[in-house]
Amino acid sequence: MDYKPTIGLEIHAELKTRTKMFCDSLNDPNEKHPNENVCPVCLGHPGALPTINKQAVEHVIKVGFALGGKINPITKFDRKNYFYPDLPKGYQISQYDQPLVVGGELNGVRVRRVHLEEDTGTLIHDNKDNSSLVDFNRASVPLMELVTEPDLKSAEEVTAFARELQLILRYLGVADADMEKGQMRIEANVSINMGTKTELKNINSFRFAKDAIEYEIKRQIEDLEKGVEIRQETRGWDEAKRKTVSQRSKEEAHDYRYFPEPDLPPFETNVFDLEALKDSITELPAQKRARFAKEYKLDDKQIEILVGSPDMANYFEEAISELRAMITKPTVLSSGAIATYHYLTSDLRGLMNESDTGFADIKIDPEHLAHLVSLIEKGKIGSRQAKDVLKKMFDTGLDPEDIIKSEGLETVSDSGELEKVVKEILEKNPKAVEDYKKGKAASMQFLIGQAMGRLKGRGNPATLKEIFEKELK
Ligand code: ADP
Ligand code: MG
Repeated sequence: MDYKPTIGLEIHAELKTRTKMFCDSLNDPNEKHPNENVCPVCLGHPGALPTINKQAVEHVIKVGFALGGKINPITKFDRKNYFYPDLPKGYQISQYDQPLVVGGELNGVRVRRVHLEEDTGTLIHDNKDNSSLVDFNRASVPLMELVTEPDLKSAEEVTAFARELQLILRYLGVADADMEKGQMRIEANVSINMGTKTELKNINSFRFAKDAIEYEIKRQIEDLEKGVEIRQETRGWDEAKRKTVSQRSKEEAHDYRYFPEPDLPPFETNVFDLEALKDSITELPAQKRARFAKEYKLDDKQIEILVGSPDMANYFEEAISELRAMITKPTVLSSGAIATYHYLTSDLRGLMNESDTGFADIKIDPEHLAHLVSLIEKGKIGSRQAKDVLKKMFDTGLDPEDIIKSEGLETVSDSGELEKVVKEILEKNPKAVEDYKKGKAASMQFLIGQAMGRLKGRGNPATLKEIFEKELK
């Protein structure tokens, strides 16, 4: 018997909007004080009427375009009825049979639909006095739900899909989709060979998603081998026990008594300027990957790091365009691009992390980073000094050339000065000289290293090598 896992996803993401889905209470994920952003509408007071948030609809339309889906010509909202203390109205306004977006595709996985609904409040459990409190700041925050067909075959495919979706949402600027903050939530429907499925909930990181799905696939296969029937149910991931545990038997759609939201009429989506929304979509991750592969000699892993951080990618490209003006030789330019990448992703990122600085408030202009790289490429400064210069640039925002001059850090290329040092080193290291003359090439590296040390790393290595070779002839 061949056991092939089949997985379909339901992914929720809180949308970034100024106000909530159906009222003008603020949608502020950073509000720390409970029940600050609430009003009669999102608290479900009787008689309070909802109005549709235009920005939220536009966000989902953009997601639809980005995934190649169809924008439904007519869309409507429906009530999904159920009781829970974090749901003040006793129903969630969602979309049932006429979602905003139908179809689409991502990573080879068919998207069934993308619709709009509202988030619930949050329950805060106090175990000390055995009570629960409700915070409605999140109640009615716009929530997008994307449903895939059961096209995924492994936990790896699920995390790759979810990561790519997260990146697209960020590129579109419609969601931050931080899983740890609960801004993006994955539900995975898992079955073997499209048999009875279980629905995994409670997954709040990519790692848990992977662990939970792997566990669940194994559990189902083991049960099937033993002849135990799979029960249709909702299961949660228990990180402490590292297994999925049954939470409840799955409810059916009819349990929710879906019916059209009487307070919101269906509407035609062409009341929105669909073409303008489509045109407003700038480069998406897949396009950026392809362009970076073509334009810069970076490998796939390097490209992925830049594509994963649009701010850093922009900074990188600004620096490279400045570098183009400073270096005209194509070979030097391509090694300069790689050097820029390395300074950006290691040294500079290190400094930024230490001081919690983002690209929005960094003092170093991309032009100055490019200037530093060009000075290194031209041999005006050694890589050891470059690290110190970069640190000073980071602190002061000054141009690297000014720092190099005022700190006396430029590379010594003056042959008179270098000759003096070479002679001194030769005198002090007769053994190495002898070894070199006997044919031990490595001794040359040792001697250059000694001279570099004497010059505090400021010697021009190529010139030093030339002088040593001349002296040792
Ligand atoms: P239900 O009616 O039980 O809610 P749906 O057809 O609405 O099921 O699908 C909900 C999610 O479950 C979708 O993501 C879909 O791809 C997935 N799904 C449906 N059937 C299966 C199956 N047999 N195995 C795995 N996932 C499935
Ligand atoms: Mg369903």
